[in-house]
Amino acid sequence: MKPKVKAPSSEITGHVINILKKYSLNTVCEESLCPNISECFSMGHATFLILGKVCTRACKFCHVATGRPYPPDPSEPYRLFLAVKELGLEYVVITSVDRDDLQDYGASHFKRCVDFLKSRLEVYVEVLTPDFMGDVNALHTVASSRADILSHNIETVRRLHRLIRPKGDYDRSLEVLRFYSTYGKPVKSAIMLGLGETRDDLLWTFEDLRKVGVEHLVIGQYLRPSYKQMPVVKHYMLEEFKEIEECARSFGFKEIFAHPLARSSYVRGLK
Ligand code: SF4
Ligand code: SF4
Repeated sequence: MKPKVKAPSSEITGHVINILKKYSLNTVCEESLCPNISECFSMGHATFLILGKVCTRACKFCHVATGRPYPPDPSEPYRLFLAVKELGLEYVVITSVDRDDLQDYGASHFKRCVDFLKSRLEVYVEVLTPDFMGDVNALHTVASSRADILSHNIETVRRLHRLIRPKGDYDRSLEVLRFYSTYGKPVKSAIMLGLGETRDDLLWTFEDLRKVGVEHLVIGQYLRPSYKQMPVVKHYMLEEFKEIEECARSFGFKEIFAHPLARSSYVRGLK
């Protein structure tokens, strides 16, 4: 059985888009051409993409533009606060492009955005972070912010990592998650299916994620955003997702959300 994607409700998504435009904010929902945009926006949920919309990396599955980004905008925490307030959000996910051009990889800006929000609004904030090149100071800066949940996506299995994330590193991502798990906050990760992984690859990854303390896992289907990204190797059926979820469950994750349309920032995954 294939999942159904809801038709966009132009009135509600238009309202969210207008607020995002008003405060010049980016979302990963738009930049990544996420298939859930209609549903999420209609629930008033969006994942904010801070530190610009140009990334210093070029993952083969990702629709976000690659290039030389602008310096961080010091007004972004305030604009983010205004948008979250106006949208009446209770659950906010903040992510960013990778900023390997910055000395702290953008970590202090990340923390400023989170802490600005948390000190002014009753919101639950999840941060979905880059690997900050494994820099311990940068990781500490974000982990010690007032964020309620720390996320970093492993994205794919070890065997495919270098191919799919040429500037990423599977072990570095595991170390990021291990580091986050020492802060006493829930730690979350996500993986995409359909990039050429085998069942064994997946089982090893589930084991690796549990070993470093990941409790919340999201498993979704890779969907090619445009012809420029790598093609889908396999479309998994809902039944296969259920089987894989069962396998993952045996590793002891606290919570698993496995569905073709699951994305790490999809709130249903946590509720
Ligand atoms: Fe945005 Fe995440 Fe929803 Fe996709 S799943 S539309 S990225 S909030
Ligand atoms: Fe996209 Fe993130 Fe990779 Fe940048 S680091 S290309 S934003 S997935």
